[in-house]
Amino acid sequence: MPTKKKSAASQRIPRLPIALVLFTALLLGGLFCIDLWQRAQDTQRHAAQQRDFALIDANIRTLLQQKLDKAQSRERQAATQLQQFVAHDPVPTETPCDISSPATLTVVVNKKHCIEPQSWTPQNLTLVEGFFVRQEMAGQLTSLLSTIRSTGATISLTSAFRSYDNQIATYNEGVNITGTTALADSTRARPGYSEHQTGLAIDVKAGNCALECFASTPAYTWLQAHAAEYGFIERYQQGMTPITGYSPEPWHWRYVGRTVALDMKAKNLKTLEAYYDITGGDYS
Ligand SMILES: [Zn+2]
Repeated sequence: MPTKKKSAASQRIPRLPIALVLFTALLLGGLFCIDLWQRAQDTQRHAAQQRDFALIDANIRTLLQQKLDKAQSRERQAATQLQQFVAHDPVPTETPCDISSPATLTVVVNKKHCIEPQSWTPQNLTLVEGFFVRQEMAGQLTSLLSTIRSTGATISLTSAFRSYDNQIATYNEGVNITGTTALADSTRARPGYSEHQTGLAIDVKAGNCALECFASTPAYTWLQAHAAEYGFIERYQQGMTPITGYSPEPWHWRYVGRTVALDMKAKNLKTLEAYYDITGGDYS
């Protein structure tokens, strides 16, 4: 009998280590499965992130391409317009110090002196802040605008070169608003009689303050003091209507070059008509 007991005990002894081995194996297997599952999750997350990044990249590329296309389209449009102006220009060369040729910086255009030929277009227009102006004044205009802004004042262009056809529309609009050509004539030039057609005139505003309101702005005060240093004059000043033919236009500035502008200022002459001693006033 004792031999039988011993045999039974020796048969029970290995069960514990086997159980431990099995438990450990199960535990390790479980941990391995969890690790595999986590790796699979990470891989899926990574793949999803890659897809998102690829989508964002594609969207950014599309937006950039659209922006580039728009910029190129604007440039092409501007080049085409410029080409049309050049092709349209019947005046091949400029004559210095001439007050009758629209190609010169000193041309005088008023209600007694129209542009000849009336549909004349400058051959050397260039863009400044989105507006066409004559090449000769582009540098000075850019400096003038940036210097005014450096003082803290606000200023922007509202108009510059206007073609003969454009002036027809502008003048007709004036007639429609005022009801008569007489009233329209006091504020808007007839086609062929506008300084804007020379590409040497600009209209400006300060923020939302345009037209008469501009006279009350710091930008206007600055222009009165310094515009001549950049070759600009205030073309239609207060009290000069009988000479210029126009009501005061504090927003309208004309480029004549530094020499003439500074000379006019030194001599306290407020109109080109007085400076060149030529007739002005109304149409008749
Ligand atoms: Zn103007």
